[in-house]
Amino acid sequence: MPDTYRNYINGEWREKGSLGTFENINPADHGDIVGIFPRSGKPEAEAAIAAAKAAYWEWSHMPAVKRADIVKHAGDLLRARKEDLARLMTRKMGKILQETRGDVQEGIDTAYLAAGEGRRMYGDTAPSELPDKFCISFRMPIGVAGIITPWNFPVAIPTWKIFPALVCGNTVVFKPASDTPATATKLVEILAEAGVPKGVVNLVHGGGREVGMAIVEHPDVRVVSFTGSSDVGRVIGEKCGRSLKRLSLELGGKNGQIVMDDANLDLALEGALWGAFGTTGQRCTATSRIIIHEKVYREFTDRLVEMATKLKIGNGLDESVQMGPCINAGQRESVHSYVEIGKNEDRAKMLCGGQFATDGDLKKGTFYKPTVFADCHTKMRIAQEEIFGPVVALIPVKSFDEAIEVINDSAYGLSSSIYTRDVNRAMRAVRDIEAGITYINGPTIGAEVTLPFGGVKDTGNGHREASHTVLDTFTEWKSVYIDYSGKLQKAQIDVE
Ligand code: NAD
Repeated sequence: MPDTYRNYINGEWREKGSLGTFENINPADHGDIVGIFPRSGKPEAEAAIAAAKAAYWEWSHMPAVKRADIVKHAGDLLRARKEDLARLMTRKMGKILQETRGDVQEGIDTAYLAAGEGRRMYGDTAPSELPDKFCISFRMPIGVAGIITPWNFPVAIPTWKIFPALVCGNTVVFKPASDTPATATKLVEILAEAGVPKGVVNLVHGGGREVGMAIVEHPDVRVVSFTGSSDVGRVIGEKCGRSLKRLSLELGGKNGQIVMDDANLDLALEGALWGAFGTTGQRCTATSRIIIHEKVYREFTDRLVEMATKLKIGNGLDESVQMGPCINAGQRESVHSYVEIGKNEDRAKMLCGGQFATDGDLKKGTFYKPTVFADCHTKMRIAQEEIFGPVVALIPVKSFDEAIEVINDSAYGLSSSIYTRDVNRAMRAVRDIEAGITYINGPTIGAEVTLPFGGVKDTGNGHREASHTVLDTFTEWKSVYIDYSGKLQKAQIDVE
C-alpha cells in the first residue's frame, strides 16, 4: 500500500483535500506508487494563509537569532537524514542518487547560510547632514510569504526560499510541485521537529491553478517567491503587479557552453556531458546549446556523441546508472516533440538519440535517449526554446566574437560557460555574456549557495536567490532618523 500524505496547516497534519486525492508515481517504474496526496483547492490555501497570518506577529517579534537557531536545527536534521531523503527523492523524481544527495546537501548549506543571517542581516548607518541627528536603516519582515516551487530540485529550491523567509521573520505557505510532494512533506516535518511554532510554516498540496493561484491572488500574502517556467511566471507576474505584491521570479533557461579552439577538450567534453545530460537535462541551468569553434568542432562532436551514446540510463537507485528518466509521460512527449521539430529544421543533423529508451526494465518508466543535434544555427527553435530534457544543440562558430554573439542570442539569461586557456578571452566573456552566472572552464551547472543565483532577461524579474541577496526578497527596509537636537531641523533647508 502506498503511503498517505497530508497537508500541514496551523501545526496540524490534515488529511482531506477538497478536490480529492492524487497519486505520485515513480518515473523510473510506473508500477511503484510513491504516495497518495490530498488534492487541495482554495479552501485549504485560505486556511493555510489565515494560520500564517495569525502566527506572524509572534514569529516576527522573536529575535532573529532564535529564528535562526530553529533553521540551523532543521539543517542538522536534514544532515542526519540526508541519505534517506536522497533515496526517497530518487524514487520520486528519478534523479540519480549522486544528484539527489547533492540536492539535499544544498538544503543543508542553505540552512547554515540562512541561520548565519540571524546574526548579520546588516543595515546601514549614515552620517546626517544636520547636527545632533542620527541615521540608521534596518531590514523588516514583510508578512505571509507564498512559496511555489518546481519538481526538479525538490529539497534545494524550497529551502532557498523557506529558510531565509523564516530567518527574516516571515511566515510561510508552501505549495510544492505535484510531481514531488513527498520530499516537501519530509522537509516540513523536519521544520516542525526543529521547533517552528504552529502556523509559521504551512504546506498545501495540489495543482498550480487551484492552490498556487489562490496563494498568489490572496491579499494577505504579501510576498510571493516562485520558481518554475517563464509562461507561469508571466501569469503570476501580472497578478502580483496588480496587487503591488513583492515577487521573486526564477524562471527558464537556454544555457550555452562555449568551447574555444584552445580549450582543454577532455575537460570541455566532460563538462558538456554533465551539463547537458545531468538530471536528464531537466535543470534550469542545463547546457542545451554548445557553441564550438570550427577548428575543434568535428573532434568535439564525434567524441560527445560517443560519450552520450554510452551513458548508462536507468533507475537512479542503481549507483552505476548515469541518467534517470524524464519526470513524467507528458514531459517525455514534450521532449520528443522538440526532437521532431529539430529533425525538420533546416540543416540540423540528429547524430544520436531521438527516441524513447525502452530496453528491458526501461519500458517501465519515462526514459529518453541522450540526443545530440549537430550543425545547428542560433535561430532554430531547438536552439532558442527551453526543452527541459536530454537534448543538446551544437552550433559551430568561426571566432570568439561570433561565439559571444550566438550565446547572447537568447530570450533567456541564466547560466553560461566558456572553455578556453586564454585569460583575456575568459575575462571578456565574463564581461560580455548576458547571463546571471558565467563559469570559466566549468559546465553551466554547479552553483553554490554563497553567491547570488538567478538570471537576466526572461529568466526572471531581477531578484536573486541564495547569498545575502535573497534577503532583498524577504525584507522591507526601514529608515530611521533620530533627532536629538531638541529643535526643528529641516533637511535640505537648514544646511549651511
Ligand atoms: P511550472 O511553471 O509548470 O510549475 C512550477 C510550480 O508552479 C508548480 O508548483 C506548479 O504547480 C505551479 N503552478 C503552475 N501553474 C500555476 C499557476 N497558474 N499559478 C500558480 N502556480 C502555478 O514549472 P515546472 O515544470 O515545475 O518546472 C520546470 C521549469 O522551472 C523550467 O522552466 C525550469 O527552467 C524552471 N526552473 C527554474 C529555476 C531557476 O532558478 N531559474 C530552477 C528550477 C526550475
